[in-house]
Amino acid sequence: MRRIVFLGPPGVGKGTQAARLAAELHVPHLSTGDLLRAAVAAQTPLGREADGHMRAGRLVPDALVLGILRERLAAPDARDGFLLDGYPRNLAQAEALAAITPVDAVLAFDLPREALVERLTGRRVCPTDQSVYHVAFHPPKVPGRCDRDGAELVQRPDDRPEAVGTRLAVYAEQTEPLLAHYRTNGLLRPIDARGSPDEVAARIRAALPGDARSGAATRSRPTAGTRRRGPGPSGG
Ligand SMILES: [Zn+2]
Repeated sequence: MRRIVFLGPPGVGKGTQAARLAAELHVPHLSTGDLLRAAVAAQTPLGREADGHMRAGRLVPDALVLGILRERLAAPDARDGFLLDGYPRNLAQAEALAAITPVDAVLAFDLPREALVERLTGRRVCPTDQSVYHVAFHPPKVPGRCDRDGAELVQRPDDRPEAVGTRLAVYAEQTEPLLAHYRTNGLLRPIDARGSPDEVAARIRAALPGDARSGAATRSRPTAGTRRRGPGPSGG
């Protein structure tokens, strides 16, 4: 099985790596934001409930997020595993998750604080098409303008220096006990997130449990096997 959790502070680049690894392992890439949006769009009972909270400007309660996650994990494409990106965020969520599914590995991404601050505060987005740039690492061709539509790029309030400090502090406070928990039960795999995306991807592969690692190396899985329960929904 490839039941994998990605943990890491904002700015560490785990979303990019999660999308890449999920494609290699043929498992769904699940982030809570996407899960909630999908449930709302599908108008499931839990999705409608979540929508009510979000429209009222409230956080979606943990129990509701967990219910939506449980339904998602029951979908056919998650039967060989999943990649959870950014969930759980705290010890209570980790315990709730353990009650609905086992996990095979927890990859914890780490970068020095200065690097995180540089990545986050340098980020600029296009308000028109949501393209993401970085003033140093991925600058637009014309400074301050979107390559695709020429719109003036903006900095999200979340990416301003004072907000970044708060986000990193909140992450550290909530996640330390979570890291300790997964270290104790032997699931934690620390990942050095410095360097290029390819370098980080290589470290991820080396850190995966053997079964998932061979899946990533050979890329595709056999179409018949003892774990298969009937034909897949659409192939990969
Ligand atoms: Zn644009």
